[in-house]
Amino acid sequence: MDSKLENIRAWLQLRRRELQRDVQSSMEDLKVEGHHLADLEELASDVNADGVIFEQFRTSSESIEQIERALERVESGGYFECEDCEQPIGGERLEAIPFTTRCIGCQRTTETDGPMN
Ligand SMILES: [Zn+2]
Repeated sequence: MDSKLENIRAWLQLRRRELQRDVQSSMEDLKVEGHHLADLEELASDVNADGVIFEQFRTSSESIEQIERALERVESGGYFECEDCEQPIGGERLEAIPFTTRCIGCQRTTETDGPMN
């Protein structure tokens, strides 16, 4: 693995630890220790009063998932390619969003259509 990728991996791991701390403290605020991501929908209905904390929790959890995907891609060697069209994502975009897994074109398509539609 070259030094550039080593740096990217170190950054992603650091960022993941920070986010995991955020999630942990949100969960303590929400008093939902032991919940897993699969319980999010249920959790959401329980904590309407704590919507802001829940929103932070959800955003951080999603970011961790993205970072874990990016880390897998660092390990497997596909980090610089878009996971949809397999074209290079582009250095500038990866510098701005190191955990992105799609090129700008595919990202726009995804945001427009949504993965669930
Ligand atoms: Zn693409």
